[in-house]
Amino acid sequence: MTDPRKAWPGVELTAKEFHETVTAVTYRPEAKFSWAAGEAMSRFLAELKDGRLIARTCRKCKRVLFPPRMFCEECFRPTDAWTYVKDTGTIETYSISYIDLDARRIPVPIYVGVVSVDGASPKMGMMHYFGEVTEKTIRIGMRVRAVWRPARERVGSVLDILYWRPVRGGR
Ligand SMILES: [Zn+2]
Repeated sequence: MTDPRKAWPGVELTAKEFHETVTAVTYRPEAKFSWAAGEAMSRFLAELKDGRLIARTCRKCKRVLFPPRMFCEECFRPTDAWTYVKDTGTIETYSISYIDLDARRIPVPIYVGVVSVDGASPKMGMMHYFGEVTEKTIRIGMRVRAVWRPARERVGSVLDILYWRPVRGGR
């Protein structure tokens, strides 16, 4: 039986011959990309830069969806309108963490959790930091208010809010 490789046309090249005889271009790609946050999240982030929290309403179930989304997952239909919600709320749940984001031990803990935002439907909230609290003072149900970064330092991120602090004497 004949070796089928012997029957193939052309010239076989070694790796060295290949690099010496075949035109090749070597370059380091500088890949640039952008990521679209989508209609609801894009508006949400843009409003954060202006120090406002925005939500979407669904006229069928009468809910105020926050963070905003363009589709109501309960009614299975598009949401209807934009509406602002307040930058005050209630601590829904929290954790006290003695490790930082790199899992290093830290002496002063970080308080993180979910805040239900005033003006949005129940259980609609955002995950964030709590500040000006201690292990002894923080509690579920605590009334809190957003502490915003100065306007010129905001970039359109949830971290345009530094943390949520307790409301004292109505403020
Ligand atoms: Zn709905």
